[in-house]
Amino acid sequence: ATDFGIEKALEQLGINPVNEGTSTGSDWYASGELISSYSPVDGQLIAKAKSTTKEDYEKLMATAGAAFEVWKKVPAPQRGEIVRQFGEKLRELKEPLGKLVSYEMGKSYQEGLGEVQEMIDICDFAVGLSRQLHGLTMHSERPGHRMYEQYHPLGIVGIISAFNFPVAVWSWNTALAWVCGDVCVWKPSEKTPLCGIACQHIAADVFKANGLPEGISCLINGDYRVGEFMTHDKRMPLISATGSIRMGKIVAQAVAARLGKSLLELGGNNAIIVTPDADIKMTVIGAVFGAVGTAGQRCTSTRRLIIHESVYDKVKNAVIEAYKQLRIGNPLDENNHVGPLIDKDAVALYKNALEKVVDQGGTLLVEGGVLEGEGYESGCYVKPAIAEADNSYEIVQHETFAPVLYLLKYSGDVENAIEIQNSVVQGLSSAIMTNNLREAEKFLSAAGSDCGIANVNIGTSGAEIGGAFGGEKETGGGRESGSDAWKIYMRRQTNTINYTTDLPLAQGIKFDL
Ligand code: NAD
Repeated sequence: ATDFGIEKALEQLGINPVNEGTSTGSDWYASGELISSYSPVDGQLIAKAKSTTKEDYEKLMATAGAAFEVWKKVPAPQRGEIVRQFGEKLRELKEPLGKLVSYEMGKSYQEGLGEVQEMIDICDFAVGLSRQLHGLTMHSERPGHRMYEQYHPLGIVGIISAFNFPVAVWSWNTALAWVCGDVCVWKPSEKTPLCGIACQHIAADVFKANGLPEGISCLINGDYRVGEFMTHDKRMPLISATGSIRMGKIVAQAVAARLGKSLLELGGNNAIIVTPDADIKMTVIGAVFGAVGTAGQRCTSTRRLIIHESVYDKVKNAVIEAYKQLRIGNPLDENNHVGPLIDKDAVALYKNALEKVVDQGGTLLVEGGVLEGEGYESGCYVKPAIAEADNSYEIVQHETFAPVLYLLKYSGDVENAIEIQNSVVQGLSSAIMTNNLREAEKFLSAAGSDCGIANVNIGTSGAEIGGAFGGEKETGGGRESGSDAWKIYMRRQTNTINYTTDLPLAQGIKFDL
């Protein structure tokens, strides 16, 4: 890996062999057990991070609480200026950070850079937003009264993130939460603690250079037990959690039990509908990128292709042909299309899915398999697989976080394809490939896709930051990033002001003394 400049990148990002895993800014401390971060690229130990103990966490929360008292009073456009500087720092460190993302998580270097670009983009978005945290003005029903609403900072926001977007998801939350006047405590995935540490260094430098208090950006490290410190903590009015549906169900219940708010970004089971009018070339590119990009480890990865019977064989053959061109190997080598899975547990789940789809009646069209030998020493490289299946199979209903694509056939109208597409518990991303206006509009209508994201003539993966990102049903219902997703990071207050000498009551109620 040294060939790819990893050591230099680690140095630029301040990653040491052993890293303190708890930070309120420039103050780093931790006394918990060590988490070893191994690269799925070559199986090497990258570095270790200390995990956060309850004692560490209490110290951090006290600092975060004190920081909120200061930060919430800084005018929002000035908070935006700090986020602007943070975006500038990310521009400077884009290459090393992109490289670390690629090396620690296993996605391609291009995708690592893309993740950092997304962080930069959300900072730009947040800077503009810092002058647009608008509320409405309403007409009061009472004479001589004025009514309006305003948005105030919420408090300490807890962010729990998944391994597959180890830096971007944090920034989607944090850039908005900061301009909204909140302070953030982030627990990255225990599979990518070093990405968290690198980001915290960058943020902490910016706050420090501006003379702002410790604790506006906080980092904790560890597994679900550390996550539970947050979900049970009444001092955190909002928990934003990204990860599996299994995790989301536990987190949602813990947060609801204390009547906190949760923003959930959970698993997907995303499909592309291929109609008789689809452009086949575009379909194949969209489907293959969607299914094998990030080795199938995106929440928006394409899991199902729902193909009309009239074009089924054509699409099937073209996709199989495209899979033959895929180069699997070190993701830091730009010649490769597909990198490794995150770890051997993920490989086991991939193998299990291939066995199950056959057991349940499916046929493997592209067999898949685990790669061995030179370049594949980590044991995490797998061949993307394709199976012909039925939507009703238990394994098809389930999100396997690996490059396994299911081909499903439909006949008749597009309604039939939409019904198949919607017949899963997840509701994140969806797409239709068609040049037929009626089919496209039906897919986008109330009778169409039930997902949070519905695309026409593009694939399911690769969203832009400008839109609200998230999904329905067991995907959790949360929205992050663009549009008005910022509102969840603030508390809304309705204000009514009486500028008369009378005290009329609402609804015409009389109360004379
Ligand atoms: P995961 O659920 O195993 O872990 C996610 C995070 O939750 C980790 O930080 C983990 O430590 C924490 N966690 C787990 N149990 C917890 C608990 N009981 N209390 C508090 N925290 C807990 O997920 P993963 O394997 O890291 O990521 C893959 C999953 O994430 C996939 O299902 C994918 O679809 C989903 N994902 C969704 C989105 C989205 O925006 N919808 C984005 C990225 C990933």
